[in-house]
This record gives sequence, structure tokens and C-alpha cells, in this order.
Amino acid sequence: MEERKRYYRKNINLFLLLDQIKLWPSRNGTLHGIRELRVDGKYITVTTHCGKTFRVYDSRTSRAARWLRNKWVVRACPDCGIPDWKIEKYSKTFFSDYGSDLRHKDKNEDL
Ligand SMILES: [Zn+2]
Repeated sequence: MEERKRYYRKNINLFLLLDQIKLWPSRNGTLHGIRELRVDGKYITVTTHCGKTFRVYDSRTSRAARWLRNKWVVRACPDCGIPDWKIEKYSKTFFSDYGSDLRHKDKNEDL
């Protein structure tokens, strides 16, 4: 099967990005798996597989969005049990000025 690279726009909305990749980068460089995402106005409530729940501001320029784009993560959380394919998929995801912005999910999700 041909490998498909995924491109997302750099300025993608944080919720859409999290909803798509289901991964959360913590401040110490650990990548957590996301079990649940809830939107409450401009805030997102994130619940990880290892049982952490927190609220973040839904911003394109948030630390999490920046870390995910730049892949500033050093390891996967052992308690989240993130499957290898998900890490692999994330590592093949690129952020550019011309990628999908996820607003047209059906047509442009995979470019
Ligand atoms: Zn975790």
C-alpha cells in the first residue's frame, strides 16, 4: 500500500487538530492519548487515556498546537498505551501553508 503523507494547515484550529490526531503533548514532552474531547465555548476539556482531565483554551497559537506542529515531544506516555500505528501516523503528518484545514473533511482530509 502506498504511504500517504498528511498535511494540515499550520494555523489549524486546536480542537480540530486534537480531534483528528487524538494525541496531547504535555509540557514535559510526553505524548498522551486522548480519550475524550469536549468543547465548551472557547475552551476544550481534554481527558487522556491515563486519566488526566484538563481544560485548555482553543487557540491556534496555543502551546499544545505549537508543540504538535513542531513535534516537540520526546516520548509516548506508558500509561496511555498509544498504539504504534497512531504514533506512526502522527510522525507522517506534516504542517504547511497549503495543507488541509479540515473544514472540508470529506474531500480534503488526506491530500
Ligand atoms: Zn498518558
